[in-house]
Amino acid sequence: MTYTYPDTKLLIDGIWRDAENGRTLDVINPATSEIIGQVAYASKADLEEAALAVGRGFDLWKNVSSFERYKIMRQAANILRERAEKIAWIMTCEQGKPLAQARIEILAAADVIDWFAEEARRTYGQTIPARSADVLQYSVKLPVGPVAAFTPWNFPINQVVRKLSGALAAGCSIVVKAPEETPASPAALIQAFIDAGVPAGVIALVYGDPAEISNFFITHPVIEKISFTGSTVIGKQLAALAGQHMKKSTMELGGHAPVLVFDDSDIEAAANLMVASKYRNCGQVCVSPTRFLVQDSVYDRFVSTFVAGAQKLKIGNGVEEGVDVGPLANERRIPALNALIADALTAGAKLHCGYERIGNKGYFYAPTVVGDVPITARIMNEEPFGPVAVINRFKTVDEAIVEANRLRYGLASYAFTRSTTIAHRLGLEVKAGMMTINHIGLALPEVPFGGIKDSGYGTEGGSEAINAYLETKFVTIANI
Ligand code: NAD
Repeated sequence: MTYTYPDTKLLIDGIWRDAENGRTLDVINPATSEIIGQVAYASKADLEEAALAVGRGFDLWKNVSSFERYKIMRQAANILRERAEKIAWIMTCEQGKPLAQARIEILAAADVIDWFAEEARRTYGQTIPARSADVLQYSVKLPVGPVAAFTPWNFPINQVVRKLSGALAAGCSIVVKAPEETPASPAALIQAFIDAGVPAGVIALVYGDPAEISNFFITHPVIEKISFTGSTVIGKQLAALAGQHMKKSTMELGGHAPVLVFDDSDIEAAANLMVASKYRNCGQVCVSPTRFLVQDSVYDRFVSTFVAGAQKLKIGNGVEEGVDVGPLANERRIPALNALIADALTAGAKLHCGYERIGNKGYFYAPTVVGDVPITARIMNEEPFGPVAVINRFKTVDEAIVEANRLRYGLASYAFTRSTTIAHRLGLEVKAGMMTINHIGLALPEVPFGGIKDSGYGTEGGSEAINAYLETKFVTIANI
């Protein structure tokens, strides 16, 4: 089914409106390179209004009971499910991923909302035994205040929904700076919350100049909490600014996930599973498997199965049936990828497949595999964020762990082995926020999701996630 791609406005104080100076940006379909719509581009005056609105929204929302917040959020999740088909089409048009992947993202977002809605009812404090019989002492969890969230274009809904749901569940208001490249699907997500009954002012949505907007909100006195998903370079800048203003922050940054394949595993099954995972969303995934480390004795088998799988993938416009891999989300990723792969080949890597743009309309890129890449090559050290797999060899478990831990990145990690001894070692010794062994088990609402070291801090999933939006207050009362 075909729908109409909508223009996107700013949401300020419950009203969808143009920027006060009427400025807009073009939205481009990455599968056709055509302009498909416009997104409003906020001025400083718009941002100030948004900040003041979420300030008032916080005063309102923090006094809505957690049971009421839970009911509104569950309703938003159901509305999102009902609208999944249309929103998936919108997302595919603006972001490029195949419709099936867009649908999964939206339905998974509804599950995230349900999870945080339930968490709203469990923000327990503690009663603490006092040293005197006439003293009562306890702690309560209170919402931290208005939140500013900055989210990228690779998962236009998923990246917003974790921050939005965590904040709302805790009783915080939130201003979201969603991606200018993919503005309409986050707006549709937020519309579901509004239609479910979230009051005006509790959520604001803005677009414009990312650096100007993040600088504005992080330094604004109304905002108490920052949550950013994006590159490590930008994350460090924003975290430093948040630190200067003593504001809590969550940083979900880049990764360079190692994949350790041991010779006792089912090599063909591992390779096939990893092909699907590597090229999902055209490799533009922070937890994308990137640095494959394969035990020497099974290296050739793994590479040949992986390359055959990569070459079978159907590349095309994501709105068409049967497409496995859509285009890159924006044109600038093409020269970025070309440069990384060229550098690896110059350093002595072997090209197994890919390394070419497909066609000249849209930003399609052939699934690429490079092998035996020297660790000095840029691609062994920088996040490729595209459809490129690097497959290198190792001999011993120790050697694999050393290479897995070589970088400052520490987001996702993957391994395949039948040995419980090796699996146990990897679980303890690979330095990453997440490790999934013999299957892909990351990013469910109920499990932790986050990185360490240069991949950031704070979890956006599991039972700890809501804490990012809460502060603990201690109260002690003497009976006089
Ligand atoms: P980029 O660093 O320019 O932008 C990445 C995202 O951050 C975009 O959505 C952008 O709008 C936002 N951004 C940039 N500067 C900002 C600022 N000062 N304040 C707030 N937001 C800001 O790079 P790009 O070309 O769009 O994407 C490529 C790189 O971005 C990748 O190599 C990858 O490392 C990173 N990225 C990471 C994720 C993730 O899920 N962690 C998602 C998208 C992009």
